[in-house]
Amino acid sequence: MPGSFRIGTIAGLTLYIHFSWFIILFLLTFSLAFGWFPALYPGQSIISYLFLGLIASLLLFVSVVLHEMAHSLVARSRGLPVRNIVLFIFGGVSNIQEEPHSPGTEFLMAVVGPLVSLIIGAICYGLFYLFRGAHSPFVPMLAYLGLANILLGVFNLLPGFPLDGGRVLRSIVWKATGSAYRATQIATRVGAFIAYLFILVGIWIFFFSRDPFNGIWLGFIGWFLLTAAHASRSQATLDTLVQGATVGEFMKKDPITVPANISLRRLIDEYILPQGLRSAPVMQADRFVGLITLKDIQRVPRDDWERIPVGLVMKPVEQLHTVTPQHGIKDALPLMSRQDVNQLPVLENGQLVGMLTRDAVIRSLEIRQQLGLERSENASG
Ligand SMILES: [Zn+2]
Repeated sequence: MPGSFRIGTIAGLTLYIHFSWFIILFLLTFSLAFGWFPALYPGQSIISYLFLGLIASLLLFVSVVLHEMAHSLVARSRGLPVRNIVLFIFGGVSNIQEEPHSPGTEFLMAVVGPLVSLIIGAICYGLFYLFRGAHSPFVPMLAYLGLANILLGVFNLLPGFPLDGGRVLRSIVWKATGSAYRATQIATRVGAFIAYLFILVGIWIFFFSRDPFNGIWLGFIGWFLLTAAHASRSQATLDTLVQGATVGEFMKKDPITVPANISLRRLIDEYILPQGLRSAPVMQADRFVGLITLKDIQRVPRDDWERIPVGLVMKPVEQLHTVTPQHGIKDALPLMSRQDVNQLPVLENGQLVGMLTRDAVIRSLEIRQQLGLERSENASG
């Protein structure tokens, strides 16, 4: 997340704080210092209330970090790389770089977070119950941490993606139907529904309650969840469609090749124009030696097209990025974007076996999506 800075590493997980976190720290500290603590622990100075508010807010964020660490540690133990944990205005987020490969992993990874919050909440409530008679600032603090953590656990268990509960729902539908794609569709749809509900309740509170601020807050959370549900849906749909898919399934087999020794003029008249090609692999005898594209031809003055051979203008194989049929599509697509090319030659044991083009991948993905097809969930589940 841009605007974040690193504060440290715990159990191999790097913790970042986004600047928006200070807004919530500020709001929470003040709301506790002017509401919660004076009500439950009267007769203190405003300075002590502010101090108690700050300590309680910081302890709440420690609980949020523990919640996120639970997600991240389970993810890592299941072989999913975790980039970092970021604290921001709406709480915390674990940046896990891959989607889980099985419903079981997704369920466990999602459920441990709220579980940790509920356990922390129960412990704080238990301690509060034990010490409730004592006249100490820790009593209202324990009560607050108990309440906040239990609310956090319950809120996160709401069954809308990308909330933890939405992931739990997704894993259950995935397991029941065997289709990660359908599970994502359902969980994100419920996620959008819950987000709209938050926005509506937020508007209602804003107009009809004595505390309009809570309404604005709820509305913002709803809006955030809605955006996240839509983004997760597009991303998860793409991930689901390409997960486990290989270059071999998307490549064009036996592409039209051109000999290296013909002139550019012949290339254009006999291959490019009749076949509508924008690029072609170049062969010398049976060997794949390079790739020629329209851009390469444009660099040569038109008068020289008769006499200059393809082999002189093409990009030689040593300068090309190539893939094998076993390569994952998931890795090949970013490779094309990074190199700013529209096609990758597919080689097996040095032999050209196909061409992977960006257009073909996108077309194939659209067709798969329309047919509700996806692969992978059986392959690795
Ligand atoms: Zn969570």
